[in-house]
Amino acid sequence: MTVETLRPASQSAALEVLRRVFGYDSFRGPQAEIIERVVAGGDALVLMPTGGGKSLCYQIPALVRPGTGVVISPLIALMQDQVDALRALGVRAGFLNSTQDPFQRREVEADFLAGELDLLYLAPERLRSESTMRLLDRGNVSLFAIDEAHCVAQWGHDFRPDYLELSALHERWPGVPRIALTATATQATRTEIATRLKLEDARHFVASFDRPNIRYRIEPKSEPSRQLLTLLRGEHPGDAGIVYCLSRASVEKTAEFLGRNGITALPYHAGLDARVRSANQARFLREDGLVMVATIAFGMGIDKPDVRFVAHLDLPKSVEGYYQETGRAGRDGLPATAWLGYGLSDVMQLRKLIDASEGDLAHRRRQSMHLDAMLALCETVECRRVQMLGYFGETSAACGNCDTCLTPAQTWDGTVQAQKFLSAVYRLKRERDQRFGAGHIIDILLGKENAKILQNKHQKLTVFGIGDELSEGEWRGVVRQLLAQRLLAVEGDYGTLALTEDSGVVLSGTRQVLLRREPPKAARAKSARPAKSGATDQASAELPADAAELFEQLRAWRATVAKEQSVPAYVIFHDATLRQIAARRPGTLGDLGGISGVGEAKLARYGQQIIDLLAESDPSR
Ligand code: ADP
Ligand code: ZN
Repeated sequence: MTVETLRPASQSAALEVLRRVFGYDSFRGPQAEIIERVVAGGDALVLMPTGGGKSLCYQIPALVRPGTGVVISPLIALMQDQVDALRALGVRAGFLNSTQDPFQRREVEADFLAGELDLLYLAPERLRSESTMRLLDRGNVSLFAIDEAHCVAQWGHDFRPDYLELSALHERWPGVPRIALTATATQATRTEIATRLKLEDARHFVASFDRPNIRYRIEPKSEPSRQLLTLLRGEHPGDAGIVYCLSRASVEKTAEFLGRNGITALPYHAGLDARVRSANQARFLREDGLVMVATIAFGMGIDKPDVRFVAHLDLPKSVEGYYQETGRAGRDGLPATAWLGYGLSDVMQLRKLIDASEGDLAHRRRQSMHLDAMLALCETVECRRVQMLGYFGETSAACGNCDTCLTPAQTWDGTVQAQKFLSAVYRLKRERDQRFGAGHIIDILLGKENAKILQNKHQKLTVFGIGDELSEGEWRGVVRQLLAQRLLAVEGDYGTLALTEDSGVVLSGTRQVLLRREPPKAARAKSARPAKSGATDQASAELPADAAELFEQLRAWRATVAKEQSVPAYVIFHDATLRQIAARRPGTLGDLGGISGVGEAKLARYGQQIIDLLAESDPSR
């Protein structure tokens, strides 16, 4: 048989599984091609954003090829949920990791050896033991899927030494196809993955990293907690979301603040007891509408599809980090918000952290470049998405779904103000051993005769009182942007400001300084629904009132069922599926089966319950 005659058969088998098991109509983006490649026995390296649909890329080949697909994943805490979700679809799945007792393990091993597993999830450290290797020898492995493949990258945050061993799979089982998957967007990490996993001959599939349903918004922060509360109350009442903070202390403080204001919020950071941490994570995954306040220790592989917002109260250290963290919103393709509040103190703090960090000059320089790119994203007057995708090497057009597209940012000529501020820095620098931060310099420009100023005789400086055309807040915005543009630097432990190489051309008047006008507080972007592809389908349109009510009833039904089975709600049905049911009100099992996300197993199990629920709530009865 030639490859040509094989192709249509494998393709139609894959499509049949997609429809029957998962209840979806068609493949998304490069899914079809990837699946075809792996079904045919080829290796693949898959780079797809979070929410892009990576799981199907190995789950379907595992169902089409004879034998068991072995999935290597570092996310032990999530394996149970992943397996539950597959079983709910009627897929025979199991896992082996350190959370099981020997009895449970033996049962899974026996299923595997008897050929009764379609998918087997393994923690990477299992593969260090010869007994696991022998187990795999004795069974029939259809493919190896290496999930979160960026864990092999030694410079990354998520590096797992065990991942380095995974290239050995290829030597021991040369005939078994391997598919490595990651949502990491940078070219450097991609190359490192291919080299370390010996996937040079694999076909690389790179999807667009755009997440059109996420609305990006970046605002200067004045009162971060208040701004957060306004966002949650005004635009995301009752929604599940993640709030990222830089420090453990601010995680605790923010969670408490939200709690006092009637929002159920749980803390998550590395300083918490491991049991508390995993209990909080489990609640976040299982219950509807919880807010997780966390450091960036939280999130890798959180595959909760209905996270409606990700809010950053502190500036992320890189665009890559920002992209990954915000990417946890809106996996289900429905509208979601990414909100970031940042201010002058963030910039100062991060610059200081970099200066004080261990590691060689090259390392510090790299961190510094990452921060600069992040600041450029914050201060841009162009489309946020264009800038962010550009950072990952993708070109795109203005998106219509970010704050600068929705409310175009205005610029103003801040050359004179920059000169005033920089000359104040210069004058103070001449006073040896004096350390003055941004606040003090702003006070000088505003002509405040406070104790510190009088004590240092700063009312005598020629720059004293020459800046009263701006408010204190506006001056802070100027300083922040001067730092972002590297026209000003932070030195030492006290946050002393200093001139840079580029300051001179501003002072001499040869360089113009364009600044972003701070948005007036009232003119915040409204929570209009995005008008872009991927989010315009029926699933995301605003539901009419009676359908919205029905949707809530379906959600309540789902919560009860999920609780009975102690699985996360999304394992029963995703929001997107319930919304479509509410909008279309299918009258028969046949109609219900036609809705995206309702496969064979779920139709058999829940179909009648849903039809009954719809009949009871029928307004025409
Ligand atoms: P990733 O692992 O890339 O973050 P997932 O595999 O979790 O993404 O998929 C994200 C969401 O998209 C899931 O809810 C999944 O069920 C859904 N999905 C994936 N592929 C399709 C498809 N072809 N049609 C409809 N929904 C899909
Ligand atoms: Zn835009």
